Amino acid sequence: MGAVLASRSVTPEQLPARSPFALRARLLTPLAAGGIRHEPDGLLVVDADGRVAFAGAASERPDDTVAALDLRPWVVMPGMVDLHAHLPQVPSAGLGAGLDLLTWLQRYIFPLERGFDVAAAERLAPIVWRAFAAAGTTTAMVYGAVYHASLDATFRAAEAHGIRAVIGKVMMDRLTYDPTIDPSAILERSLRESASLIERWDGRDDGRLRYAVTPRFAVSCTADLLRESAALASATGTYWQTHVSEDRAEIAEVGRLFPEALDYVDVYDRAGGLGPRTVLAHGVHLSDRELTRLVETRTHVAHCPASNLFLASGVMPLGRFVEAGLSVGLGSDVSGGPDLSIFTEMRVGFYAHNAMRVAGRSGGPALGPLDWLRMGTLGGAEALGLDRAIGSLEPGKEADLIAIDPSYVASVAGAEDPDPEDLMSRLIFRSHPDMVRGAWVRGHRLEGPAERA
Ligand SMILES: [Zn+2]
Repeated sequence: MGAVLASRSVTPEQLPARSPFALRARLLTPLAAGGIRHEPDGLLVVDADGRVAFAGAASERPDDTVAALDLRPWVVMPGMVDLHAHLPQVPSAGLGAGLDLLTWLQRYIFPLERGFDVAAAERLAPIVWRAFAAAGTTTAMVYGAVYHASLDATFRAAEAHGIRAVIGKVMMDRLTYDPTIDPSAILERSLRESASLIERWDGRDDGRLRYAVTPRFAVSCTADLLRESAALASATGTYWQTHVSEDRAEIAEVGRLFPEALDYVDVYDRAGGLGPRTVLAHGVHLSDRELTRLVETRTHVAHCPASNLFLASGVMPLGRFVEAGLSVGLGSDVSGGPDLSIFTEMRVGFYAHNAMRVAGRSGGPALGPLDWLRMGTLGGAEALGLDRAIGSLEPGKEADLIAIDPSYVASVAGAEDPDPEDLMSRLIFRSHPDMVRGAWVRGHRLEGPAERA
């Protein structure tokens, strides 16, 4: 198939580095109003401001369009939104499978985060931002470590790379890994350092970089820290992110540490942490009361199925939670999850749902491939309150997009999938680390995709 070979031969240097540009390709995007748009012979036009000017059939191309780069049969779609990852943990991705959460943290993670100083951040962060882009992720919400200066370096690398990122310094005033910090001063210091990072970075580059106040989880935070951190996020209009209901032993420990709370979600509710600017990772074992409370407060959940199976934490009944009205996006949770790809999360989430069925448990209605696409893009954008700006390719939105060569996922060389659901199914179940050939944020091409090729 000449066309397939030709498409593989397009190099990153041939892709437009910045807007304005126009790409002729197969177009697949969820729509904010519901449903999808699929154009087998589509055209995406990005204006000089980095916004989508046109997304539709090539035959309906506007008269004043710049010359289009023909990428057919590549697929152009919105970039993925990763709602949960730990940047300093990337070096241990793939290690420690099957350990329980609390043992894994002590054995693999805390030693690694303890070493995340400025030099480590300057070395690692540029690599990780490129790796996100290579995986097709154009927006990432990440945790750093507890060190203030290393977060500055992490933000600087994101600013230089061009990815859209929400980043937070981890806050811990109990079960911490830094013996050099005076426990009696740790709360005040962590708040002060978070506030200074907010001052410096939140909203940088016209809102491309945002801050998330980041208490690690209830096991490593006192009620004071949870309350004060939520107040800081509220006062500054920043996000608040933490973990909830990931693992049974963790839930039991939270019950022991917070005997006055009704349950795990109530610990954060009492701290003032629930609400539309909050993203909670996992929520695997939520009770009906907790689920109802998250729905009524419009709190968002980052679903991380690969991590949940890697650490044997459990399987979230995703379909049931979504049916109840919970706002859910996807998270890689590296290195609880071994892979930065949101396509991997879709695949593992799908398998996990089937495993529940095999085990005789109901996870609620199954999601189809296009539902997963929506969750990994627009769903994540909604969780960040950015669904009017990103998450789909529609006129007026900022041009955060990826270009995928589907020949990498074909089951037989040269085979094509005219049906959009079939195409998305291939991208989920046969996703390939090199299939994302280009990624752009606001019309600026990101380094990372196709670097290995
Ligand atoms: Zn996590």
